[in-house]
Amino acid sequence: MYPQAFEYFSPETLESAIDLLSKYGEDAKVLAGGQSLIPLMKLRLASPKFLVNLDRIQGLSGIEEQEGAISFGALTRHAEIEESTLVKSKLPMLHDAVSVIGDVQIRNLGTIGGSLAHADPAGDLAPVLLALGARVNTLSSSGKRTLKLEELIVDAYSADLGSDEVITQVLVPIPQAGSGGAYLKFERRAGDFAVASVGIQISVKEDGSCGDIAVALGAVGVTAIRAKKAEALLREKRVDDALLKEAAAQASAEADPFSDIRGSVEYKRHLVGVLFRRAFAIASRRAQGEEVNTVHG
Ligand SMILES: Cc1cc2nc3c(=O)[nH]c(=O)nc-3n(C[C@H](O)[C@H](O)[C@H](O)COP(=O)(O)OP(=O)(O)OC[C@H]3O[C@@H](n4cnc5c(N)ncnc54)[C@H](O)[C@@H]3O)c2cc1C
Repeated sequence: MYPQAFEYFSPETLESAIDLLSKYGEDAKVLAGGQSLIPLMKLRLASPKFLVNLDRIQGLSGIEEQEGAISFGALTRHAEIEESTLVKSKLPMLHDAVSVIGDVQIRNLGTIGGSLAHADPAGDLAPVLLALGARVNTLSSSGKRTLKLEELIVDAYSADLGSDEVITQVLVPIPQAGSGGAYLKFERRAGDFAVASVGIQISVKEDGSCGDIAVALGAVGVTAIRAKKAEALLREKRVDDALLKEAAAQASAEADPFSDIRGSVEYKRHLVGVLFRRAFAIASRRAQGEEVNTVHG
C-alpha cells in the first residue's frame, strides 16, 4: 500500500528541524533510517502530514570515545556500530546486538536513535543499552535533556519525547577493566525480531568470583526489563552451577512475556533461562580476556 500524502522536509541544521517540528506539532514526524516509520506509513498505521528527515544534518552521526564513555550520534547506522573496532573491543555486548538486527539492508539504514525512539519491545538495542547504563541526550524548543534509558522508553512503542524533541546522542559508559558482556537473542529465523533475548554485563574478580552484574531481558515485556533479583543473587558471589541455575530461574520469573505468534508465555520464560546461562558463560569468558564470537559460531 502507498502511504498517505505528506510534505517532506530535509533541513540542514538541527535548529531548522526543531523549528519545523514545533511548527507542525503532532502532524509531523522525524525520519531517520525509515526502517520502522516507512513500513508503518505504508500500512497506514502512521500517517504524518509532514516528514522531517534528519539525514542532511551534519554532526548527528559518528562514534567516538569521550571522557570514559562512547558517544554515538543519534543518526549512527547499525552497520557503522557493527563495523566499529572501538565498539567491538569496549562494548562487545553492543556489537553482539547490532550484528543480529534484521538483515544487511536494514542495518545499513536503521539508526540507534530511531531504534530507541521507536521503542519496539522486541528491539535488540534497548536491553543492551539498559544493561550498560546508557544515557540519551535530546534537544527540543524547550532546550536539552539527558535521560536514562529507562526514563526514555516508558511503554511498548512509547518513548518519552515531545513532538519537537529529537534524540541527538547516546552515551554509553565504558565498562571497567576486568568486565565483559554478552547479548544472546533467540529468533525463529535469521533476520527476525527476538522471541526472547538476554544481555549480561559482569565484572569478574581476581579470585574468579562475580563482582558487579547487570542483566537485561528483551522481548519479554512491554519494555526491556532489568532482572534485578537475578543480579542480586550473583553479585559479589562465587558462582557455581547451582547458583547459576537459581539465578536463571529468577530471571525467567522476572520476565513478563505475553503469548503471540512467536511463542507462549511458558516457552519465552524457558528461553530466558537458557539464554541467561549461556550469556553469563560468554560474558564471564570475555571478562577474563577471552575473545568469544556469538554471531558466527
Ligand atoms: C524487516 C525488518 C526487520 C527488523 N528487524 C529488527 C531486529 O531484528 N531488531 C531490531 O532491533 N530492529 C529491527 N528492525 C527495526 C530497525 O532496527 C529500525 O532501524 C529501527 O527500529 C528504527 O530506526 P530508524 O532509524 O529506521 O527509524 P525510523 O524508522 O526513521 O523512525 C522510527 C521512529 O523513531 C522516530 N525517530 C527516529 N529518529 C529519531 C530521533 N533521532 N529523535 C526522535 N525521534 C526519532 C521517528 O519519528 C519514528 O517515530 C527491523 C526492521 C524491519 C523493517
